[in-house]
Amino acid sequence: MLLPWNSRTCILCLNEGELTIEHVIPASLGGTLTSRILCKDCNNRLGHSFESDARLAPELRCAAAGMASDLGALAEALEVGAQYEAQFDEQKVVRKLRSDGQFGTAKLLDNSLIVPEAEAAKHISSIMRKRGAPDQEVDAAVEKWSEVEAGAMLDLGRNVLVRKWMNHPSTPAYTESAMSPLVPLKTGYEFAALILGVSILPSAPGLDRIRRALREQDEAFARSVVAERRASNPAPFHGIAFMGNKPAAVIQMRLFGLLAYEVTLPATGINFGRLVYTHQLDTGEERCTCPEPAS
Ligand SMILES: [Zn+2]
Repeated sequence: MLLPWNSRTCILCLNEGELTIEHVIPASLGGTLTSRILCKDCNNRLGHSFESDARLAPELRCAAAGMASDLGALAEALEVGAQYEAQFDEQKVVRKLRSDGQFGTAKLLDNSLIVPEAEAAKHISSIMRKRGAPDQEVDAAVEKWSEVEAGAMLDLGRNVLVRKWMNHPSTPAYTESAMSPLVPLKTGYEFAALILGVSILPSAPGLDRIRRALREQDEAFARSVVAERRASNPAPFHGIAFMGNKPAAVIQMRLFGLLAYEVTLPATGINFGRLVYTHQLDTGEERCTCPEPAS
């Protein structure tokens, strides 16, 4: 859903120019509410900073994992690049899940490599060659490896030992950082901009502070205006809602139904009733009771 923004002024740096499409909830989390509200520079800056890592936050992935069948491809996409643990003999190995569904290469304490089975032949060839093996010997080694039983240690000569590991269940390590409070701050500010229209633009101490915090990635400030809550049950939707003025405007972002972030926007009042945007993650349906922004 693309909401209109009737201005050429970027809501973050307040410069005029060509504006680009911004995802109010980060696209990597499955957000689809968009508007042309940021200049290219600000959009890139956000995309390469706190937004880019949000996807891997353990609390988001845990919530998503509880409803993976409803989320389909999104649940899988959230895991790409995440750290997974597996046990190899006495050693715990942490590997990154790649986009092809395989785990990346890892090293054991004795310097041996754990590589995906599909890439083992390539690694064996390369190591054997480095150790001076002629083509014929390399081919024979690869052949020997392809026929070896799972679990058995195989000596390929030239001090190369290989072993086919099987059935090594990997589980998420959940060692990544929690989502930055700058994400809900950004979402809350952008949603307020879409509600208020250009009246969010004039310089005012509270609003300038938010814009500066987002541009400079000031996590401490974001933490001071974002409160985290938990709903009782996960549900396959993302949402943003204006919760009223208390006395400053409070906007809540909900992710996967479960995780709620209440953003207080200092010195901002919103003269509308309840405003809600929801994106149903299982059906793709979006709803918004937002007004047309003032031009
Ligand atoms: Zn800008």
